[in-house]
Amino acid sequence: MKDNYLKLNQLAVDGKTVLLRADLNVPILETQGTSIDMIDQRLRATIPTIDYLLSKGCKIVLCSHLGRPGGVVDPKLSMKPIADRLSILINKPIKCLTGCIGPDVRTTVDTMTSGELVMLENLRFHPEEEKNDSAFATELAQLADIFVLEAFGTAHRRHASIVGVPKLLPSAPGILLQSELSMLGKVLEAPTKPLAAILGGAKISDKIKILDNLLDKLDVLIIGGGMASNFLKAKGLNIGKSLVEDDGEQLARDIIKRSATLKVELSLPIDIIVGNEFKSDPETVKTVKIDEIEDDFMILDIGPKTISLFLKQLSRSKTILWNGPLGVCEFDMFSKGTKHVAKNLASLDAFSIIGGGSTASAIEELGISDQLGYISTGGAAMLEFLEGKVLPGVAALSQHSN
Ligand code: AMP
Repeated sequence: MKDNYLKLNQLAVDGKTVLLRADLNVPILETQGTSIDMIDQRLRATIPTIDYLLSKGCKIVLCSHLGRPGGVVDPKLSMKPIADRLSILINKPIKCLTGCIGPDVRTTVDTMTSGELVMLENLRFHPEEEKNDSAFATELAQLADIFVLEAFGTAHRRHASIVGVPKLLPSAPGILLQSELSMLGKVLEAPTKPLAAILGGAKISDKIKILDNLLDKLDVLIIGGGMASNFLKAKGLNIGKSLVEDDGEQLARDIIKRSATLKVELSLPIDIIVGNEFKSDPETVKTVKIDEIEDDFMILDIGPKTISLFLKQLSRSKTILWNGPLGVCEFDMFSKGTKHVAKNLASLDAFSIIGGGSTASAIEELGISDQLGYISTGGAAMLEFLEGKVLPGVAALSQHSN
């Protein structure tokens, strides 16, 4: 797949009004009065593009969705706290408008001066955003001269601000989106070998599609998390009450067969941590071999022997792609496998690319994000890209004419 979109530095942005569609949909942890705690990695990731546009004397109209308001105004999902936090991070005022389209918004934007920033209100307060309504896209486009897409995490959605606006304005990916596309593109096209993939998380049906596109490029495939239960069941083992999908066993059987044909080294857990309940502190928790799971227990994390096995496999890899936690990592007790593997990745002589909300959060909690190769801001978008699909938001950007 060859990229043919214009790059940001190929657009004449000097002094122009730029509509910057970012992914500022950050997890808000706690609200106390006006103080709101949030994980601001996605806000920080947008700063290089903001700085670039400011250095070109642009007026910046920021826009994003936040949460799932479902097309109605929900004051709890206002962009105001996001604008305030971003304003602190870039040390410049960002005025949050009370809407995202309409005459008032247009008047404010028309009176902006060079180097000024405003934030539109949550795009998903309008049902037209998710319906990719063309009149809504036109109103957004009329606010600016140039469109920059920075929202990798939403680039797989056919929404008005993602695919509608770039058809109406000269457009380019922002610096973050550009680097996401380059990093992931390199894994698909020219990875430094050996290439390993670690797949975990809950849904085998979501993740398995990447393997259609990726399995023949892999040297090592490591399966953990809820995914692994399907594989263990496919091998005829008793997995008790563990999470499995209806057709998961068949999907797993296919991958086992194809890995053998393609000579991909498939690593599955050899021991696991099981509990009798799906909660942070089940009454009974034990570490068992995979052929010792009792009927009323479920797999909640990988065991210590599995961690060693996985690390041995990874130690001979030069590129590591990871999507999905190796255990129920939102419960501290069952986040050890994910965290242990993450810590060791940081010391390997390999480039790692990590995506998926819960995997990235577990790594952020460890405070080692900057020791790992690349943490993607997209979960589902990363998976779609790795499936070999062109993301709709990227396809809609201005293309080179040749
Ligand atoms: P995903 O969004 O597919 O990457 O899945 C992330 C979710 O997988 C997290 O919420 C984890 O709790 C869940 N998960 C990981 N391991 C297991 C497991 N063994 N059983 C059930 N859920 C799991």
